[in-house]
Amino acid sequence: QMNEVEVEAFSTPSYACQRRTTLDNHNAVLTDALSLLAENAELSDEDGRGVAFRRAAAVLKSLPEPVTGLTQLRGLPCLGGHSLRVIKDVLENGASSEAEATKQSERFKALKVLTGIFGVGVKTAERWIRDGIVGLQQLQLSERPLNRAQRAGLRHYEDLNRPVTRAEAAAVAAVVEEAVAAVLPGARTTLIGGFRRGKLTGHDVDFLMTHPEEGREAGLMPKVVSWLDSQGFLLYQKTTRNSYLEAKDGPARPPSNMDRFERCYSIFKLPEEARRGGEEARRGAEEAEPCSGAAAASQVKGEGPKPWRAVRVDLVVSPISQFAFALLGWTGSKLFERELRRWAGHEKAMSLSSHALYDNKQSRYLRASSEEEIFAHLGLEYVPPSERNA
Ligand code: ATP
Ligand code: MN
Ligand code: MN
Repeated sequence: QMNEVEVEAFSTPSYACQRRTTLDNHNAVLTDALSLLAENAELSDEDGRGVAFRRAAAVLKSLPEPVTGLTQLRGLPCLGGHSLRVIKDVLENGASSEAEATKQSERFKALKVLTGIFGVGVKTAERWIRDGIVGLQQLQLSERPLNRAQRAGLRHYEDLNRPVTRAEAAAVAAVVEEAVAAVLPGARTTLIGGFRRGKLTGHDVDFLMTHPEEGREAGLMPKVVSWLDSQGFLLYQKTTRNSYLEAKDGPARPPSNMDRFERCYSIFKLPEEARRGGEEARRGAEEAEPCSGAAAASQVKGEGPKPWRAVRVDLVVSPISQFAFALLGWTGSKLFERELRRWAGHEKAMSLSSHALYDNKQSRYLRASSEEEIFAHLGLEYVPPSERNA
């Protein structure tokens, strides 16, 4: 205490849902290294280690300034020995040798490429790697049986691994809104996921649909899907039925990040003119911005210009009574969600899901019609979507 260092130490609460994390990350070099190690752990069936690295990265993302020395980190939560070694390495040498070695490792590279195929999980990728398949060409030559999702994933590999822009998300939104308006007037569509948090790009576009009159949302998903299909917008779709009401373990089951809403995992065929339309719509709505050549450049790549691109789109339907919980649960980030549930369980004896909030002490459900009310029930200060980028 007497020998206080010149640079002030940071202080921060330990749950990510108690913090405000914008996209303005002052410690990207550190968090990139930690995120890469988290990803590697997740690809290696070491989820505990993965979460530890994600939590450490999230703490650094929430800091108001770049970290310049280890002494600033004294007292910060969630920084375990391993994470601190990585941070020290980056601060002293400009890069983490462990992260660099991981990036170069054949196993990591193969897992990244193979799980980069839509429909391929870690288990499948590992099986293939054990059989010597480490790349896309080998996979194609091997004539492995692929399921429908994997075949679509392989066919659209390049498109699906190219980030989706906000303009493209806006174009998809226009299509989804048209579909919803056509099949159920009065129904509402909300952009969720990373784009709701203000991200500039995403790996997919996520939407939540509901109707202001409880029950009217029933049957909405199949209608939307068949409208989209009939208009030629779907390259792939898999719809999962709502299993919430049927499940006997009910909403009081232990919190899990799988919910039971009716949902659709899809691949959209987004026409070029719709993409431009999205861009124009956005230009009109916001300030004019410098033109980006990225879309034009990507169009030239590959076998030649094709007048559309494939985009991953997730659709979810919730009844209005659960809408606030669904909205909160599907806005992310994944770590923010995980931390909200951990806070609810460990600090408040409550179970939070994308359907409901259950108070274990009062043995009752707590109603909410807005995200603000859910934060209030949880005894947390409200954190807007743009500050949930943990
Ligand atoms: P990205 O730009 O990579 O798409 P994202 O934050 O939108 O980032 P998603 O994987 O699309 O990431 O997930 C969006 C949100 O939906 C996350 O908060 C996640 O917790 C939630 N989510 C995704 N899949 C499920 C699922 N099967 N069940 C419940 N919630 C899910
Ligand atoms: Mn998303
Ligand atoms: Mn998604």
